[in-house]
Amino acid sequence: AAAQLAELDASKLTYTLTPTPRPVPDEATANSGLETVCTDHMITATWSARTGWAAPELKPYGPLTLMPTASVLHYATECFEGLKAYRGHDGKLRLFRPDCNAARMLMSTVRISLPAFAPQELEKLLLALMAVDGARWLPRSRPGTFLYLRPTVIGTSPQLGVQAPHEAMLYIVCSFMPRMDSPVGGMKLHTSPEDMVRAWVGGFGYAKVGANYGPSLLATQEARKRGFNQILWLYGPEGYCTEAGASNYFVVWETKEGRRQLVTAPLDDRLILDGVTRRSILQLAKERLAGELEVVERRYTIDEVIEAEREGRLVESFAAGTAYFVCPVSLVHHRGKDLVIPTGENDCGAYTAKLKGFMYDIMYGNEQHEWGVVV
Ligand code: PMP
Repeated sequence: AAAQLAELDASKLTYTLTPTPRPVPDEATANSGLETVCTDHMITATWSARTGWAAPELKPYGPLTLMPTASVLHYATECFEGLKAYRGHDGKLRLFRPDCNAARMLMSTVRISLPAFAPQELEKLLLALMAVDGARWLPRSRPGTFLYLRPTVIGTSPQLGVQAPHEAMLYIVCSFMPRMDSPVGGMKLHTSPEDMVRAWVGGFGYAKVGANYGPSLLATQEARKRGFNQILWLYGPEGYCTEAGASNYFVVWETKEGRRQLVTAPLDDRLILDGVTRRSILQLAKERLAGELEVVERRYTIDEVIEAEREGRLVESFAAGTAYFVCPVSLVHHRGKDLVIPTGENDCGAYTAKLKGFMYDIMYGNEQHEWGVVV
C-alpha cells in the first residue's frame, strides 16, 4: 500500500533561535546597500514525493544549499508571494489579508507542478515568523512602518530530466524594503514595446511565478533609462491595458453618457495577477463609494483611455499593489506621445486618495477590520 504522505503542518514547527541577533538597522541604512537586509530568522519546509512535507523549521537566516542541477535553476520551478507586516498606530503588528496570499501561493505552486499544501498552514507559518522577529525588527516605537514577507516555493530535485520535481522546498524570509513613496509628480508609465508581451491567453500571467518577472526586466530597464517608472503592459493588437509593472492598473473616467467609473482589467482572461490590493480596492469602492463611482472590471484599450483624455473625461489613474501601495499615475507615454493625467492637489486625485486612505487605515489599525490580522 502507498505510504501516507505527510501534510504541511505548522504545528510541527521547530525553533532554533540565532545566538547572535544582528543590530536592527534604520530604514535608510537597511536600504542603502546592494543586498536586501533580512531579519534574523527564516522558515524552511522540505518536501519529497516519497514522504511528503517534513516538519517546518524556524532557524537563523542564511544561505540555502542546492545542487547545481536543482530543478529551479534550470526549469524555473519557482513561485513566490509578497506581503507586508504593518506596525499599527495602535502598537499592534498586522498582516493584511494573508489568507489571500496563501491561497494565491497554492494556485501558483500547483501551476508549476510543485507540491500542494493547506494554505492555512502557510498563513500560520507567516504569523510564526513575525511572532519571533516582529517585535525587534518592527518595534512599537516605529508605528507606520512595515517589513516585507517573501514566501517562496522551489523545485530542488537534483535531476536534469525535464519533469515535475520530486523534491521541493518552501521557505519564508522577511526583509526591509524601501518605503515606496509615490514618485514626486506621480508615476510615469511607458507602454510596452510593440514586440513584447508580458502574458498571453493560455499562458501563466495570472500566476506569481518567477518566470513572469525575469523576461520583463529588459523593457523596464530601458524605460527607466528614459525616465519612466514602470511599463504599462498592453495586450494584443487592440492594446488592452493589463498591468503596470508589478502592480494592477486602474483608471477613473467618465463615460460618454456621463457616468463616473473605476475601471480595471478583468481576471477572466487570466492575463493579470489577482492582486490583493486590487481586490480590496474594488470591494471598498463598491461598499464605500457606491454613490460616486461605478466599479467596472472589463477589457479596455489604451485608445479608449487616450480618447477619454482628449474628450476631458479622464479623471484619475493609479497603480496598486503591495510594493507601491496606491500610486497616482500622472503620465502614460504611448507610441511617441505623452498622455497627461490630472493628479490634482498633493499629486493625488480625490478618489485615489480616498481609496488609499481606507486601505491605510485598515493596514495600520486606525480602523478595526477583519482584513487586518493581528500577529
Ligand atoms: N501584478 C503583478 C504582476 C504583481 O507582481 C503584483 C505584486 N504581487 C501585483 C499585480 C499586485 O498584487 P498585490 O496587490 O497582491 O501585491
